[in-house]
Amino acid sequence: MAKQSDGSSIVWAFKTNVTCKNGLSWSDDNRIAMCADDGVFIVELTTNFHLMRGTLIARRTMIHPHSDIFCSTEIFSIDELENQLSREDFNSILLDRTICPNVQYSIPPQGYKSASWSPKGADDVGRCVIACLAIDHRLTLCREDRYRSTWIKIIDCSKVYEGIWKKNNSNYLKTGQITLEYLRTISHAVAAVAMAWSATYEAFPAIIHPADHGLMMQSSTEKNKFSIFASAMKNGDVVFWKVYFPLVSSHDCIYLTTASIHDSIPTSMAWCPTQEDMILAVGYSDGMIKVIRFNLTCGIVSDSEDVWSDPDLISVNALCWQCLDIHQDQWLLFASKDLFIMAFVIDRAKLTCVHMVHVRGQFNLSCTGMSCQSGTLALCASDEKVQLIKASMKDDGLKMDSNLFPVTIDSPVFSLQYIGVALSPNAALLAVVACPACPFDQKQLKEPLMLCITRVSMWPEYPDILQLSEHRVIRDIHDVLLLYLWGLMNDKPLIAPSVLHLLTDMDSWPGLSLTQLRMIRCLLSLDKNTRKLVVMGEHSFDMMHPQLSSSGQSTQSIGSSTTSWSSSNKESLKHLHTLLLFKYIQPYVVNKLLPRLPELDNLEVRIISSIRQWLNARLVHFKRWDSILTTVEKMLSTIENSITTFDEDCPICGELLEDTEVMLVSCSNDHKFGRCCKSFLPCKDIPYRRCSLCSNVAMPLHMIRDVSGLCTSDPHSCSFCEDSLCGTQQMFVLSMSECQDPDPSQFL
Ligand SMILES: [Zn+2]
Ligand SMILES: [Zn+2]
Repeated sequence: MAKQSDGSSIVWAFKTNVTCKNGLSWSDDNRIAMCADDGVFIVELTTNFHLMRGTLIARRTMIHPHSDIFCSTEIFSIDELENQLSREDFNSILLDRTICPNVQYSIPPQGYKSASWSPKGADDVGRCVIACLAIDHRLTLCREDRYRSTWIKIIDCSKVYEGIWKKNNSNYLKTGQITLEYLRTISHAVAAVAMAWSATYEAFPAIIHPADHGLMMQSSTEKNKFSIFASAMKNGDVVFWKVYFPLVSSHDCIYLTTASIHDSIPTSMAWCPTQEDMILAVGYSDGMIKVIRFNLTCGIVSDSEDVWSDPDLISVNALCWQCLDIHQDQWLLFASKDLFIMAFVIDRAKLTCVHMVHVRGQFNLSCTGMSCQSGTLALCASDEKVQLIKASMKDDGLKMDSNLFPVTIDSPVFSLQYIGVALSPNAALLAVVACPACPFDQKQLKEPLMLCITRVSMWPEYPDILQLSEHRVIRDIHDVLLLYLWGLMNDKPLIAPSVLHLLTDMDSWPGLSLTQLRMIRCLLSLDKNTRKLVVMGEHSFDMMHPQLSSSGQSTQSIGSSTTSWSSSNKESLKHLHTLLLFKYIQPYVVNKLLPRLPELDNLEVRIISSIRQWLNARLVHFKRWDSILTTVEKMLSTIENSITTFDEDCPICGELLEDTEVMLVSCSNDHKFGRCCKSFLPCKDIPYRRCSLCSNVAMPLHMIRDVSGLCTSDPHSCSFCEDSLCGTQQMFVLSMSECQDPDPSQFL
């Protein structure tokens, strides 16, 4: 259950335990994965405005533990071993959890240790997939199904690698006497201990010369995108996999090579997120840190250097990268080692460490988690501390500004310990996992594990969302939008006057980017109860009756649009929806359809007919803006003068379908169909797709993919909100977002 301690944080409690530190990670598509003994818990904060009731809403799913235990030496039975081995060796085997994972465990070995999110665009609807490492060292790649209800294990990397390793080492396996050493060699070679995803690359990247970079981008299509996934084994080997996107079946994940560089146990890995090189940092339990350059053309590790060559026996807890300069030549590698934080400046081309800073963290117990996003580094420690660090390169060397970050969690126990931390993609929100640090009464505290989400940045420190939304898509600033919504719901002064101005000034809407229109849509669609905007604690502004409670600088801008606004908020939203969809479809109509009007194929004629009908039905809204109206009328006359358009009829009764709502058509017998938000065709057949956030519908991808220029960029995202369009199990299209609440049972 969700409970809110105060306006600044949200806490969810779980009935489970966490055995391993560092098990929290935040995906690029805004999902939080928490690894626990009973599974991987996945929490997704949503901007679904239908469900806003004073707090942020989370969608919660989980990856269940495996039903069996991964055991690489299962060919030998315990009884056989007992007869063959000396008493001493046999006892050692029973105590070794890697060789013998099914005995001597007090926690379920199928529980999870750590998880790592892939880059965006990895699954079949353009979202992230996740790599999960279980306590028994089994590594699997999982994706959410099309209906976003369950997680599917796509490939068991451990099983696949076990087969590969045993084949490559068949001579050793044949000749080997069954001894403790022999069993240890096998099990440690296939026991995964760490993993990391590289950035997304296009096919044949090899080493891209900066001059060729534009060329590479042009030739991209969906099928040749991939990421290099690295997994480290307990014997020190690093295994490289090539994972093709979208990752749908086990065939999309291909084993490349194994590199044996160092024989200590790897404890942490991180790929440098550069497009030019493939550089992997590996930290070991003996304290050493290495960087490895992977050459994809040859499929080998071409170079490796020591970053920290002193085997100081302080295990490397976590590693992460941050870019230092605009040329991306110098990268900062952070390493957390017990109480210490180390920062290494790495020259990408030479693969050398040119500068090093070594500081002690502001905590007294060891660090248990680290996360780096957008130039902010967050660390948490067992003694209930979270520390934020911003590093920058100054003339006199590397400078690290460090602050303790206060997190408030209401808990009945005396003291807590933090065991994992993660920052959202724009470092707007921070998640921390907490559990009691002292013995507690099981009857009183049934859900001892807590996931707390709190706001890192507050406007005005935060870069203006207007600037952010000018060149980026809404999915990339999702966490910033959540920060705004959260502020709105808690009456905290969080809305920048510039944003408030956009909400109310309809005249400015035609000049805005699609992302800005989408952002306004989200802010405007808030629940009626929370439609009170507070700006910087100075001006209070009620959306239904726009009046400023006190005078201020923004009086004039808001006052000027009062007349057009006051009629109805719902009307404004219809205007916004119409404008947003027009802006979305305009480039396609102008560049792809109008120039080829006489030679359109049947599907394209249907599409342009639907667009024509929609434009005509929406003229009443376009009239709000003179410039837009002129464009629309010109577009309509071009279409009407050039081709014979097509009328869609109702598949049930045969009557003509006419527009009733912004994206809804119905016949005279009231059979309703949603318009596809990509092609504008009425979705008359099953199956169709539905936006998982705002419930808008779209034709199945295979029906419209071949239409040139229609689905080239982001074929899986909703035109309204950019959330993913998923398959639907429902039988009929009922309505669009305005009329329908999604099933609330899947939300908390
Ligand atoms: Zn009908
Ligand atoms: Zn949507």
